[in-house]
Amino acid sequence: MKIYLDNSATTQVSEAAAKKAYEIMTVDYGNPSSLHHMGVVAESELKLARKRVAELLGRDEKGLIFTSSGTEANNLALKGLAEARKKRGNKIITSKIEHPSVLEQCKQLEAEGFQIVYLDVDEKGLISKEKLKEHLDDNTILVSIMFANNEIGTRQPIKEISELKKDKDFILHTDFVQGLGKAESCNIPKEVDVITVSGHKIHAPKGIGALWIKDNITVRPILFGGGQEKNIRSGTENLPAIGAFGVASAQALENIFEDIKKIYAMRKLLFEGLTCEIKDIKINTPMEISVPSVLNVSFLGVRAEVLLHTLEQKGIYISTGSACSSHKKGQSHVLKAIKAKEKEIEGAVRFSFSRYNTFEEINIAVDAVKSAVDSFRSLGSFR
Ligand code: PLP
Repeated sequence: MKIYLDNSATTQVSEAAAKKAYEIMTVDYGNPSSLHHMGVVAESELKLARKRVAELLGRDEKGLIFTSSGTEANNLALKGLAEARKKRGNKIITSKIEHPSVLEQCKQLEAEGFQIVYLDVDEKGLISKEKLKEHLDDNTILVSIMFANNEIGTRQPIKEISELKKDKDFILHTDFVQGLGKAESCNIPKEVDVITVSGHKIHAPKGIGALWIKDNITVRPILFGGGQEKNIRSGTENLPAIGAFGVASAQALENIFEDIKKIYAMRKLLFEGLTCEIKDIKINTPMEISVPSVLNVSFLGVRAEVLLHTLEQKGIYISTGSACSSHKKGQSHVLKAIKAKEKEIEGAVRFSFSRYNTFEEINIAVDAVKSAVDSFRSLGSFR
């Protein structure tokens, strides 16, 4: 038995997406820049994929630049926009709970002389629009706030944030990696200038991402070479992964309403199962203002890592926070930022869902978590 509940870390590649990647690798393997027929075929695959990803994003395909990952797209957005606008100002505003691919790039920019403001969040993980407004000044060139958090799922008030552009001239970037396919793209207001997405969170392969950039906005490249992707991201395009990203996007768009509904219902089932069956737990995900794909829960008196490995033995896969940071030492910067207590951080795990999960799997997971938590607690000194 395999019950995969770690879909915010990565997802199973859909059969249709894998088939497309295989076809491109073995049959249509030309270089999109080549002038001959195979190059033309490859270029048409590239065009089709660009259209499909842009459609899921609800944006025009002209602005979509393929990158090697969401990480690269975030780095390109932060560094590329900062470099392009440094004559105008040097202040960048972000939040304390962004993905490391934003926070670590901010650290680099700070070392280069940019001023970075890291906004606090409240106990639900929300930034304050008022605080953001206070920090906005004529020196502010960029605001980067994620659409949805990867550890607890909180959705930031992007619409309200975008309204601040009426009075101040700044570029607004959002990391939509955890929102793509989990929230309708109409939730990203037209005022958002730059958007990051990643393929492997929506059943495409790992190692493919994209940055969507509004028409008149300049992003300085961070890679230089053959001038692919409108000279913003040089390097021969990873066409098998791009084609698969296109197929996965088309599938996500086709089923978006049903998928979101099903994922909400599965999370509700898990939430109710855990809260009814197990005492002394804390739900770290703000249910009413989060993407449906994430449920972060603290089991007090239980070590998250031990719970993870116990469930693993039963074929159930979850995460202790975000997969991207779990190999790093130290506690979750997100749970710390929402001021979770030490015990809550110690026992925090993340369940995350995709359309391939079933309600039956959720019921099995509830029973397995309950039995594991009960046995740890009976052994330990809890209560
Ligand atoms: N941004 C968020 C919110 C993420 O969750 C992730 C990956 O977990 C990334 C960016 C990075 O994407 P990638 O894994 O494609 O580098």
